[in-house]
Amino acid sequence: MYPLTCPNCGNVNRPTDTYCPRCNATLRPKSSMKGLWFLIIPVGILVLAVGAYIRNDSKLREARRQEEKRREDNYVRINPSIRVTEAGVIATNNEDYTYPRFTVILNPNGSSGGFSAEYGDLGPGKTAVIPFSKFANADGRRFNISTNRINQLSARAWPNGLQSTHTFDFKEN
Ligand SMILES: [Zn+2]
Repeated sequence: MYPLTCPNCGNVNRPTDTYCPRCNATLRPKSSMKGLWFLIIPVGILVLAVGAYIRNDSKLREARRQEEKRREDNYVRINPSIRVTEAGVIATNNEDYTYPRFTVILNPNGSSGGFSAEYGDLGPGKTAVIPFSKFANADGRRFNISTNRINQLSARAWPNGLQSTHTFDFKEN
């Protein structure tokens, strides 16, 4: 749309005139800025949203990095002694710190998903005797030493709040 009134001489033109027929001035189309707002507003919102997302994402990444560092700084690998006897699993904490929530899992990678027993906190130098009757799988099925063989055993604890697992393999014989 071109201005009806010529800005130069004030002549009233037709809306389609690009030149004023009276003074020959160039008639510039009316500002299309009004129309542009429909574009500028969504683009602006998009830019703000992307900016907020990027800020949030870098914050998340920083938090993840710090969590990883905390883990690296605090991770300790538990190294208990394990014996399997008729009485059950006998585990000794060889470290000078407590094994919090000390847990033993029989055949952790087995088809039954492993049979686990949580002993509780196992102090430094202490020995835990965990009878087989304490071991159960996710379905609540008990471990039966006379029908199940132990191929693998995992000892697990949460020193510094971080899960630490030590897995022992038992050779077939
Ligand atoms: Zn004119």
